[in-house]
Order: sequence, then C-alpha cells, then structure tokens
Amino acid sequence: MAAAARARDGRIITAVNAYHFTGGPCAELVLLGAAAAQGAYELETIVAVGDRDRGVVPPCGRCRQVLLDYFPDLEVIVGEGTRTRTVRITDLLPESYVWADHQLDAE
Ligand SMILES: [Zn+2]
Repeated sequence: MAAAARARDGRIITAVNAYHFTGGPCAELVLLGAAAAQGAYELETIVAVGDRDRGVVPPCGRCRQVLLDYFPDLEVIVGEGTRTRTVRITDLLPESYVWADHQLDAE
C-alpha cells in the first residue's frame, strides 16, 4: 500500500505502510508522520492505492477515525477504476466519535 496527500501549500506527501503481523501502521498513518516531519500540518486531500494493480483503496476504520480527528475537513479519494470520486472524511465515518469534543478539562 502507498498513500499520497496534498497539503494546503501544494506539497505532495507520500508514504507506504509498514507491515507487521502485530498491526503495523497503514500507509495513511505513516503519511501523517511523514507530513508532520516535513512541517505539513494542513492536509487537504488523501488517497491510498494498493500494489499489484489493486487501484484506489479506501481507508480502513482505524485510519478513518485518525484522519477525522487530525483533519476534519480532509477530502478522501475513493472508488474503483475510472469511477473515483472525492468525499469528505466525515462522510466516511458518519455519527463518529470526535475525540476533541470530549476533552472537557482542556482549555
Ligand atoms: Zn488503515
């Protein structure tokens, strides 16, 4: 798996997953770290693709939650073949738990 994202300033950040049988991070999560390491804190759009011609791969449930918490306005490219489209991360995780909404002691 590989992921690419466009930051607000136009930079393209890329990453690949780090497979491990204990649950290594998906390419999307590796990408978040790579983006932060490059100082890209505002991601606008993300897409992941599979190797062996699997094409666009939608984010897994864990990644949807993480992406929503970090970038609630993020757009995600999903779909198959030539029928890809862009959807909001909030549309991929409706009625979701928003971590920031429950940090009651934070000021
Ligand atoms: Zn994932």
